[in-house]
Amino acid sequence: MRAFAYSRPASLDEALALLGASARPLAGGTDLLTLMKADLLAPERLVAIAPLLPSGIARDAEGVTIGAATTLADIERDPTLAQRFTALGQAAGVAATPQLRNMATLGGNLLQRPRCWYFRNRLAQCWLKGGTACHAREGENRQHALFGGSGCVAVHPSDLAPALLAFGASARVRGAHGERIVPLEEFFSLPTGERRSETRLRDGELVLQVSMPSYPEETRSLYLKEMDRRAFAFALASVAAVVRVSARQRIGHVRLVLGGVAPIPWRAHGAERVLLGEEADERLIEAAADAAAEGAVPLKGNAFKLPLLKALARRALRSLLL
Ligand SMILES: Cc1cc2nc3c(=O)[nH]c(=O)nc-3n(C[C@H](O)[C@H](O)[C@H](O)COP(=O)(O)OP(=O)(O)OC[C@H]3O[C@@H](n4cnc5c(N)ncnc54)[C@H](O)[C@@H]3O)c2cc1C
Ligand code: SF4
Repeated sequence: MRAFAYSRPASLDEALALLGASARPLAGGTDLLTLMKADLLAPERLVAIAPLLPSGIARDAEGVTIGAATTLADIERDPTLAQRFTALGQAAGVAATPQLRNMATLGGNLLQRPRCWYFRNRLAQCWLKGGTACHAREGENRQHALFGGSGCVAVHPSDLAPALLAFGASARVRGAHGERIVPLEEFFSLPTGERRSETRLRDGELVLQVSMPSYPEETRSLYLKEMDRRAFAFALASVAAVVRVSARQRIGHVRLVLGGVAPIPWRAHGAERVLLGEEADERLIEAAADAAAEGAVPLKGNAFKLPLLKALARRALRSLLL
């Protein structure tokens, strides 16, 4: 690893003044330091932000707010989340390992970079790193995207992001020039020629907290993840589902967000359209699972993800609706 300076500013404003292209915010360090050790990033300065950012989980009539410095372990163990935002607690509980979950923060989880093996190889100057070609598109792409692949076909590695999107979460972000609230659906955005990253966070901005609106008590949710092994692996595919059935047995609210299958968490709008306003039965769930896979463009090595994805969607919807 190359030498770098380390700052522990006394206030958030001081931290924001230090941040810029050559200085990076350091939270738990579980992704940032890995990238630096691999010589994929070489910031001149790391700015310790975890002691300055909000930490913890607060609930009021508006919903739930989680500080960006809250660890995945705290999210996994929180009783309010387990009861009312079940899919989020489940997603935190199947991310990485217990040791990592004790260090990893919510903010860092949303901003971690892809696990594409070309991206993580210092010698491969692929498109996402500013090059001209995506090596995975015609190369090794077993773990790559089914949806949203344009310049890059890597998948977003976060387990928490699909669950938060399914709950309609927004991030409060702050830069040197002020604060803004960004719905996560806009925060995550497919990389473009001008912006080779998976989020719209601007240089020097920090995520302060993430909020989810409150939902009626009868709202139910589930996060399912399929991996190469039973633990300690990134998702081959995952599904976060949030549903509510009305008094007349109709599906009054539904959000289905897919993980591990696109460069950003991927909302299954087609499946939601199939379900909304209908009465759930096996036939409807089958149609919704098919719709969740609509628009997929499998690569040479990852067509196996399609039936996997449909099976996860089917299993989640059956468990929540039947
Ligand atoms: C072996 C291994 C297995 C893993 N498996 C999984 C998995 O199954 N599922 C999963 O979801 N994740 C997994 N992860 C990823 C892990 O969850 C992330 O590395 C972690 O959440 C990042 O959080 P951090 O606090 O350590 O972030 P850091 O490493 O400190 O930061 C990551 C990035 O975010 C930036 N950053 C951090 N906080 C903020 C903020 N508040 N505002 C703006 N920028 C910020 C940093 O500058 C850096 O660019 C795994 C990681 C490892 C090493
Ligand atoms: S999938 Fe993305 S990260 Fe991987 S090689 Fe292609 S451009 Fe690079």
